Amino acid sequence: MKSTLGMFGAAVVAGFLWVGAAVAQDLGPGFHKIKDGIYTFAPDQGTTTCSFVVTEEGVVMIDACNSPLHSRNMLAAIKKVTDKPILFLIDTETHSDHTGNHFVFSPPARIINAEGAGAGMKKEYNPKRAETLAAQSPEMREALKGEKMIPPHIEYKDRMTLNVGERTFELIYLKNVHSFADTAVWMPKERVLFASSAANVKTFINMRPSVVIPDVLASYKLMKSLNPEIVIAGHGQPTTTKIFDEYEGYYTLLMKRVGEMAAKGMTLDQVKQELKMPEYADWQGQDRLPVNIEQAWKVVKK
Ligand SMILES: [Zn+2]
Repeated sequence: MKSTLGMFGAAVVAGFLWVGAAVAQDLGPGFHKIKDGIYTFAPDQGTTTCSFVVTEEGVVMIDACNSPLHSRNMLAAIKKVTDKPILFLIDTETHSDHTGNHFVFSPPARIINAEGAGAGMKKEYNPKRAETLAAQSPEMREALKGEKMIPPHIEYKDRMTLNVGERTFELIYLKNVHSFADTAVWMPKERVLFASSAANVKTFINMRPSVVIPDVLASYKLMKSLNPEIVIAGHGQPTTTKIFDEYEGYYTLLMKRVGEMAAKGMTLDQVKQELKMPEYADWQGQDRLPVNIEQAWKVVKK
């Protein structure tokens, strides 16, 4: 306990002295203060985003951060802002870049995601993940101490309301949008939406075979209908609903082009070779265009 007393002392001082964006700067690079008590750690455009919300009762996290080093950063940031415990951690998807570091926060955090999330995590679990990461640096090796897979303690079906202190979190299951179980987290009073990886910020998404583009488009419609002020995607910096418009435009154009080429009698392989999306040349992950084309092909060939 002794070693943490200094930290809490500093946090109390900081709590009295600082209000507003300065606190987020204090938390280090990549941290954004979204609203009072709502913070996001978005290191850059591509890396997994993770967030925390302070309530009167304790902390609620959204996603467990990309690497264990990021998670340790996050834990330190939370301790700077509050001495309250992390009560819940809500996953927006099952992939390890969002869920692999549960062990840093749980216990005490109870993990929540939609039905099928635990089974999905077990299916995708890479037993070599820790070993591969540990080889990166001595710091990473240290950050991995206690590493183990922790599937969600709570799985909900379709919708769930989580009331913690003065805050309400509405969990909305999004079907077929990215992983085995995807959850959007909506804070209606604050009008902040954690949108999962149904859309990222200017990045071609690595679409798994289970993703269905019309379901993805339906999820954008649903999330836009909530009328959020701030949208936090699974990867990238905080944004607004313009992210959904961008992706809707992209998938619509992609399906149109794939449909036109298919109508000319081209094969999938020919389409993958010839189709270009120059309007999206500034997006990251250009090498993922072929898997996006495969998913669009499934839709137009139905
Ligand atoms: Zn993912």
